[in-house]
Amino acid sequence: MSHVCPKEKTFILQSNALVTLLLLLLSFLLGIGGPEGGAGLPNPEELGPAAGENLRWDPGSLKGKVIVVDPGHGGDNPGTRGVGPQPEKDNVLAVGWDLKSMLEYAGAKVIMTRDGDYSPGGPNADQLEARVRIANVSAADAYVSIHNDWNDNAYLTGSTTYFFSPDGHRLGASLQRGITKELKSKDLGVRWANYYVLRNTAMPAALVELGFLSNTQEARLLSTRSYQTKAATGIYHGLVEYFSNL
Ligand SMILES: [Zn+2]
Repeated sequence: MSHVCPKEKTFILQSNALVTLLLLLLSFLLGIGGPEGGAGLPNPEELGPAAGENLRWDPGSLKGKVIVVDPGHGGDNPGTRGVGPQPEKDNVLAVGWDLKSMLEYAGAKVIMTRDGDYSPGGPNADQLEARVRIANVSAADAYVSIHNDWNDNAYLTGSTTYFFSPDGHRLGASLQRGITKELKSKDLGVRWANYYVLRNTAMPAALVELGFLSNTQEARLLSTRSYQTKAATGIYHGLVEYFSNL
């Protein structure tokens, strides 16, 4: 499975039978093959009312919604450096700012876990805990964490969205559709993952990996303002679809 983010916390699944049992139950409820996420959910089109051709589309559905925008990493934690001109932390912050503007224009209230180059919660805090705490005290309607990916295979390109809960799955499916349509990136699917920020946030949550900083062409694109704005537009479209079809 592709490397996502060096600092994301994950469980060692095999070490905890109860967790494994719960994951199998979740997998069963979601109708997916297993908890590893390797096969993921290759066909988001099968995933309930937020998929298919008869989707409602109403940007007005964002009005009054509280949305947590979480640009990954920051400060001493650059995220993936990759082969592009900018580290992940800078690329995703720019996307976060663009997304905030779009959402606020549509009448949503946006809470950013960081709005500059710093680690949420301060230099001595656990930055993942801080992100979750910011989200959970906000009583938000959705949480979107924004990242750039990395893989040993420098030829690999494309966008992936991760979720943990069934609600997160619905959100993630809409985000993935919006992102791949706008970026025209390869659709690597909507995948289950046991990431700390997805597991511990109290609202529908998804983590988007917009593209690969290990690929020369995608790394260059991900650092350009035009591509960052497209990425934000894709996430925005995904949120419109998600809230229009609740
Ligand atoms: Zn990351």
